Amino acid sequence: MDFDYPPEAEAFRAEFRAWLDEHLTDTYRGNGIGFSMEMDPERLATLRAWNRELAEARYAAIAWPEEYGGRGAGIMEQVVFAEEMHRSRAPGTLNPLGLSNIAPAIIQHGTEEQKRDLLPRMLRGDDIWCQGFSEPDAGSDLASLKMTAVLDGDHFVVNGQKTWNTLGHLANWCELLVRTDPTAPKHRGISCLLVDMTLPGVEVRPLITITGEKEFNEIFFTDVLVPRTALLGPRNEGWRVAMTTLAYERGTVANLHLGLRGKIRNLLDAAQENGAAKDPVLRQRLARLYLEGELLKLVSERAISGAMHGRDVGPEGSIAKLVWSEAEQHLGEVAGDVLGADANAGSWGRDRVYMRALTIAGGTTQVNKNILATRILGLPRK
Ligand SMILES: Cc1cc2nc3c(=O)[nH]c(=O)nc-3n(C[C@H](O)[C@H](O)[C@H](O)COP(=O)(O)OP(=O)(O)OC[C@H]3O[C@@H](n4cnc5c(N)ncnc54)[C@H](O)[C@@H]3O)c2cc1C
Repeated sequence: MDFDYPPEAEAFRAEFRAWLDEHLTDTYRGNGIGFSMEMDPERLATLRAWNRELAEARYAAIAWPEEYGGRGAGIMEQVVFAEEMHRSRAPGTLNPLGLSNIAPAIIQHGTEEQKRDLLPRMLRGDDIWCQGFSEPDAGSDLASLKMTAVLDGDHFVVNGQKTWNTLGHLANWCELLVRTDPTAPKHRGISCLLVDMTLPGVEVRPLITITGEKEFNEIFFTDVLVPRTALLGPRNEGWRVAMTTLAYERGTVANLHLGLRGKIRNLLDAAQENGAAKDPVLRQRLARLYLEGELLKLVSERAISGAMHGRDVGPEGSIAKLVWSEAEQHLGEVAGDVLGADANAGSWGRDRVYMRALTIAGGTTQVNKNILATRILGLPRK
């Protein structure tokens, strides 16, 4: 099944393609930002310049309302936008987490002052944002988080530790979940703060991942004085804000098939070239992999169709996350057998190791299966 794109979406494609032809120079092309960034200052400056070009043309976050620099774009325009960015190998923005996960929470729960102050700088990539949710003893069971924020006059005094904070080593702002009422039931005593990471008492310690890169971090807060105005949404209602953020995080999976299917195509081409495609067992595994890519496309299109009919992303985001993360790992395994030693070098070498993280980040496979079991299949919790 392929979508029939409405004429407005095709008109948007033509307009955006023309803009990319003019603005996407070789300096920018293919120089993409991942969540993993060992970023030298020159590369950061190049990506920031590209980010500003996108923002000035109102292409940095097309789904945002126009008043905050977006285009209020509908779902099909967003699909077209993702396709054209992928096709042209255009880098994304400096704020993958900020634009798609954190901004929707600010737009939904923030004060007008927070929106006017924070969103334009996020849009242009002047500020980089990270998400401070997980703690050493609060991951899947996020509501067990312990970081404290005690209100004292006009400030919260924040103490505790976060971990696995993607982009934390580059970020200067953080969407932080803290416990503001230790006596309330665990989901009810949480608040969300928008924290300036340059405040005294904030210490970021990068973690080196299995790929050898800096990607995520531990962040320690010691008596950090965060202004009361940094509260996002009402005090002790941070769980609702967190759920808005996570719903949008799972919603972004709708475009993941573009990257996965591109890599599967490359592997199929390589298998033709090196003769692996003649091996009967490898042929079957390649065919199976191809089907996983096509299945993910169908799951994504189902979610897109649901969104067009006003349905929330809901548990479908969990299906796409599951199919995608497992297919990426199967791709890594098949690539190893198809490419031999070449699979351990270059982008294949890095990607094959990195893929291990995908069944953990953004909700583990087991947790997503629990969501499917209870919310889609209607099975009992125990
Ligand atoms: C690449 C990457 C980037 C990340 N970026 C961020 C970020 O930017 N900000 C942030 O706050 N966090 C981030 N995280 C953290 C991520 O959200 C957590 O790793 C994830 O939620 C799992 O939590 P945990 O690591 O504490 O594992 P745990 O929750 O301790 O889980 C350990 C194991 O137990 C299983 N398990 C747990 N509960 C259940 C259950 N109820 N039923 C069955 N099995 C269960 C899990 O599936 C897993 O296999 C990132 C993680 C990764 C890998």
